Amino acid sequence: MRLQFVGCGDAFGTGGRFNTCFHLVGERTNLLIDCGASSLVALERLGIARAAIDLILITHFHADHIGGVPFFILDAQFSGRTRPLTIAGPPGIETWYERVMETAFEHSSKVTRKFETRLVTLSERQTVPIAGADVTAFPVVHGKSGGPFYALRVAAEGKVVTYSGDTEWTDTLVEASAGADLFVTECYVHDRPAKNHMSYAALAANKARLDARRIVLTHMSRDMLAHAGDVPETCAEDGLVVEV
Ligand SMILES: [Zn+2]
Ligand SMILES: [Zn+2]
Repeated sequence: MRLQFVGCGDAFGTGGRFNTCFHLVGERTNLLIDCGASSLVALERLGIARAAIDLILITHFHADHIGGVPFFILDAQFSGRTRPLTIAGPPGIETWYERVMETAFEHSSKVTRKFETRLVTLSERQTVPIAGADVTAFPVVHGKSGGPFYALRVAAEGKVVTYSGDTEWTDTLVEASAGADLFVTECYVHDRPAKNHMSYAALAANKARLDARRIVLTHMSRDMLAHAGDVPETCAEDGLVVEV
């Protein structure tokens, strides 16, 4: 399998990077992890065939992680998609789906389309088989309101990819990273404290506890981007492909 960083930016376009969106593809797997507000532009730029994507996994309901869904859906509608699409995320996904669709395009949550859109609620620590992948959600720490916030572990085709979602360091990440071939973690700042976000210092202090063959950093602020050359881990760039 391969994971391509469609977007590895923070919420604010720092460094000219697109919002969070990863494309995981294998022989039988074709899914997105998060679909931030700018993701349709990023997918188009990389020439990724949206019609072949079966599943969009959502870590949390911030616009830089879910805001691209309305554009994805309307693009699919107008390009004649017939393949069913599943969108899976934390509890509240049905309400949030309607909310983001109606905010972006009035009445768009009610339209009957040529393809079925299935919404799946992911519960903590319950592995759900969806679109050829076994998906497990773990609660992470990203603020008091607007949650739940998840890290996601995706097992498919004999490989495991874990993404931290947006979170400060939490021991749950040790559990979520178990056996991961690739662990993608947000890393917002370098060594200053950051509430609700990961600092590289916190990651480095806990790195030995993670059970991951490879770690790639994403969702970097200007502060962390300035230190990208100082850390041994790979720092993601938009378009980067990692073979899993
Ligand atoms: Zn974010
Ligand atoms: Zn967030």
